[in-house]
Amino acid sequence: MYDIVIIGAGITGTMLSWKLSRYRLKVAVLEKENDIAEGATMANSAIVHVGYDPEDGTLKAELNVKGAQQYEGICKQLFCAYKTVGAYIAACGAEEEQQLRVLAARADARGVPYRLLSRDEALKEEPNLSENVTQVLDFYTTAVIYPWEVATACMESACQNGTELHLNTPCRGITKDGDCYLIKTPNGTLRTRYVINAAGVHAEEIHSMVAKADWHATPRKGEYYVLDQDVSPIRHIIFPVPSKEKGKGVLAIPTVYGNTLIGPNSDFLDDPDDNGTTVDGLAYVRASISKTLNNIPLNRSIRTFAGIRPTTTSSDFIVEELADAPHFIDAVSIESPGLASSPAIADKIISILAESLTLTENPDADLSRRKPVVLADMTAEERNALIAKEPAYGRIICRCEQISEGEILDCIRRPCGARTVKGIKKRVRPGMGRCQGGFCEPKVVHILAEELGISPLDVVYDSEKSIILESENRV
Ligand SMILES: Cc1cc2nc3c(=O)[nH]c(=O)nc-3n(C[C@H](O)[C@H](O)[C@H](O)COP(=O)(O)OP(=O)(O)OC[C@H]3O[C@@H](n4cnc5c(N)ncnc54)[C@H](O)[C@@H]3O)c2cc1C
Repeated sequence: MYDIVIIGAGITGTMLSWKLSRYRLKVAVLEKENDIAEGATMANSAIVHVGYDPEDGTLKAELNVKGAQQYEGICKQLFCAYKTVGAYIAACGAEEEQQLRVLAARADARGVPYRLLSRDEALKEEPNLSENVTQVLDFYTTAVIYPWEVATACMESACQNGTELHLNTPCRGITKDGDCYLIKTPNGTLRTRYVINAAGVHAEEIHSMVAKADWHATPRKGEYYVLDQDVSPIRHIIFPVPSKEKGKGVLAIPTVYGNTLIGPNSDFLDDPDDNGTTVDGLAYVRASISKTLNNIPLNRSIRTFAGIRPTTTSSDFIVEELADAPHFIDAVSIESPGLASSPAIADKIISILAESLTLTENPDADLSRRKPVVLADMTAEERNALIAKEPAYGRIICRCEQISEGEILDCIRRPCGARTVKGIKKRVRPGMGRCQGGFCEPKVVHILAEELGISPLDVVYDSEKSIILESENRV
């Protein structure tokens, strides 16, 4: 019998499981996919929005500000990348400049720092701003992270404290049994006192298993270009002025590791799992970015990708216990800024739980995790000393990102370790560089096969169906 079962191992579910792991509770996280962070948490703009954008009086506004304030500390505690790059909101003309005043007033009320820059001041920092840009609001504390790294780190730490992660375990049905819920999965039925619905774009399906929803899922796709590390057209995140119709619009984002993202568009979807890029979507991204920026070298794109926003007919986050299903808590409609808000979303869920559940601190809980070895962050002396002790750190597997066999082995062996080529790519980045795995992928397949004691034919790229090798053609 579990105290709490969390459905979904995106940032909402993993951040909550990490924060809950300080208490004496039996918690399980169910994830239908074969890895953590496979939904919206995998494909987004990776920005820790500081909280000027959501409308006054919304849960989004409250949780965004509170969540963003916690991020730097969390990333430090869990050894995750956190890079303060600043965000420029670029106004084009008098009407948009007026909109900057609205954002500045919101920021004042919420204690979010900013500077108002003239075109000339902004140009000194960002010479590629287009001739349309007349004024800029600089939210200089805005940071970027590596979203799946934070989700994986939270899950790893929670599991070390006793939380169970059940991968490949879709929730297929929920029934009430006395004071408990029975959660049906292909791997058996789990009995639990509380259920948290953190299933992203599939949250309505989960909600409908216990009650009728008064909102509906309206998933929206966002597509991006990823530019090579050796072109850096911007230093700050460059936003257009947000609007009701287009949301935050098409941005340029410097990533933690020196690539630039250009995107996203925002198109409604019939199929909530359709995460392919489209000719039309990318054409829209190309056309839109030219409003705020010149000289974006889209010919230096090394990849395109799409993410799906778990939007609903509610314009706000929904984080509440259901009136007609006690002890069932929704964390749904977690669209942007869901990533930035996730620490505060977790706090809100914990405060709802605390109304009917006794939360006793576990003095043995350790909310950190073992620091991963990152060769790129070490001095030559440190590296040499490590390689002398563990030669696998001297064998470079990914030439583009300079990732060693030792780093790959470590990310397989850690709690909640990688089991797929994409899982390794998400954790330690072989395949993220210019060749996109062209050189290192066969080696990664063999390392995974050897480490897991399986045939290379059984190593998948990402989902269970993403077979890499069909059959042997030479003996
Ligand atoms: C294009 C785009 C850009 C964005 N940019 C930003 C940004 O810059 N900053 C920001 O703060 N936010 C951003 N967001 C929003 C942010 O990504 C989301 O709010 C956040 O990732 C939602 O996390 P989640 O855990 O709620 O959902 P998800 O990450 O989607 O996780 C839900 C999980 O539930 C699992 N699941 C579903 N059904 C079941 C089932 N039946 N059984 C078991 N498991 C199930 C899924 O496989 C998935 O892993 C962006 C989103 C998109 C798509």
